[in-house]
Amino acid sequence: MTRTIFRNTFLVGVSVLVLCAGLFFGMQYTQIQDETYAALQQEAVYAEQGLLMGGIPYLRALNNENRITWIDAAGTVLYDNDFPLPMPSQNEMPEVRQALTSGEGKGIRRSESSGEVTMYYSLRCEDGSVLRLGRSLRAVQDALLAVSPVLWVLMLVLIISGVLAFRVANQIVRPINEMDLEHPEITPYPELSPLVDKIQEQKLTILEEAEQREAIRREFSANVSHELKTPLTSISGFAELMAEGVVQGDKVQEFGRDIYQESQRLIALINDIIRLSQLDEQNVEPLWESLDLYELAGSVLDSLRPAADRRNIVLNLAGAPAIISGVYPLVSEMVYNLCDNAIKYNHPGGLVTVTVSQQEGRVVLAVADTGIGISPEHQKRVFERFYRVDKSHSREVGGTGLGLSIVKHGAQFHGAVVQLESVLEKGTTVMLKFPASSEVTDILMAVDDQQVKENV
Ligand code: ADP
Repeated sequence: MTRTIFRNTFLVGVSVLVLCAGLFFGMQYTQIQDETYAALQQEAVYAEQGLLMGGIPYLRALNNENRITWIDAAGTVLYDNDFPLPMPSQNEMPEVRQALTSGEGKGIRRSESSGEVTMYYSLRCEDGSVLRLGRSLRAVQDALLAVSPVLWVLMLVLIISGVLAFRVANQIVRPINEMDLEHPEITPYPELSPLVDKIQEQKLTILEEAEQREAIRREFSANVSHELKTPLTSISGFAELMAEGVVQGDKVQEFGRDIYQESQRLIALINDIIRLSQLDEQNVEPLWESLDLYELAGSVLDSLRPAADRRNIVLNLAGAPAIISGVYPLVSEMVYNLCDNAIKYNHPGGLVTVTVSQQEGRVVLAVADTGIGISPEHQKRVFERFYRVDKSHSREVGGTGLGLSIVKHGAQFHGAVVQLESVLEKGTTVMLKFPASSEVTDILMAVDDQQVKENV
């Protein structure tokens, strides 16, 4: 910033100086030119008088630094103090022609005899001849050099303006550099208040975000502890009874089954928690590959078929192969959770249909069931961690309350959109809309830069 301010200020200074110097020397040049013409004219008038009285000897006797040429009306050179005669006819020279027609003539041109750029002044004498005086332009330039000390002054001004620009740039930037970011409001410069306000605003947002994250984290930890405690308490209770020998005969098997079920729940819960924290931390090195969602859905349904058969639920796969870019274990888990829910919250003898299709360039996977449905007030919240419409029913069917959170998080990770439609007692359809494969590269880069902050 200092450099930019310095450069700009200095550039303005230099431009002004160059402009001033140009104007000054331009004016000087014109003035010296005018003075030279005036001097030549004066001399021409004197020379004419002398010539009338003394003829060529007078001109010869003149010790003049200027060139003097006397030309008769026909253009023949009668005298020239710089060049030997005879000389070529001069009446075609512009200043001579001008003098012959209007009495006097002037102009700047390269002399044919000397080759030097020369200022000429010509005067028509009474007898019709022309007296021409010339002075080399170099003399004019020499006169201009006489004012060159001004150049040194300008250089000095340039250096001073450089130093000033540097100091100004530093003075502007110093208050910003010296600003206490912990207390930006303490600034003696009211001009900085928009910046200060912005910093304050951002600080507040960051603080709020951090607090929100911390609150979610604390709530999650509390929930996790609670969720882990319930099955562990049951296991501990069953085991205690068995250890005390209270449980006899067939009951031993029953208690063993209960302990097994509760430990399965614990394992499922811990697996879900691990998956969610991996997604939160983004510390897994995901292996992105091209996946056929249709094929993946087929294998998920195969793995769930025994559970579906137990409740007489029919599983259907519809649609056609469709390729997405994704992380196989994660997509597989998302589809598994959706199908698992469609079975768990279905009526016995119900139907689960998984459809894979392409819609407007997106690959869509829809899991539809004919189950108990979700009422509108719960529909938004089911994606929250540990949120269950009916806690005891979820427990009964082995739910952890984390399945849909993983689906939502996984969808964000893949740049996919989740949509839920449900009618109580009619059924639920959850759709995952994946972006076209080429879009995934952009999403991947964005995910790399910015972790998914939103917690579900
Ligand atoms: P859970 O492990 O309890 O199934 P989820 O996060 O997968 O947890 O789902 C949260 C809640 O949403 C469930 O407890 C259930 O009440 C409701 N839910 C999810 N899917 C369905 C569905 N297909 N039909 C009816 N209710 C559902």
